[in-house]
Amino acid sequence: MTDCIFCKIIDGKIPAEIIFENEDVLAFRDIQSQAREHFLFIHKTHQKDLVEMVHENPDGLLQIMKAISEFSNKTKLKENGFRVVTNVGRNAGQSVFHTHFHVLSDNHLGKFGK
Ligand code: AMP
Ligand code: ZN
Repeated sequence: MTDCIFCKIIDGKIPAEIIFENEDVLAFRDIQSQAREHFLFIHKTHQKDLVEMVHENPDGLLQIMKAISEFSNKTKLKENGFRVVTNVGRNAGQSVFHTHFHVLSDNHLGKFGK
């Protein structure tokens, strides 16, 4: 998608601090970190949100979850604990309409805070 910033990151047109990549999934640091560690995991195909992705690319969701799991095993994330969040729609706080999963890790995360 031409005007999607996450598609531009996938295409290398916008810089990002990439922390994980495989054939299907890309992950990078959130530019406005909300925790000690704050990453975004995305699929390399464009779907606007979780609901669209369930219909159009359900396998992609599993690929993202596997990537998060693999990354958490390779780093201190699993040991520390982490939270996975996805926002659907503006009322839920979604601001980028390319499905993404926030992965947050800190000493203490508020129960439902981002
Ligand atoms: P959401 O508000 O749930 O749609 O999440 C979008 C996230 O993308 C926000 O936490 C932003 O800080 C983050 N973000 C926006 N632009 C960039 C960028 N160029 N690089 C990294 N993270 C970004
Ligand atoms: Zn996109």
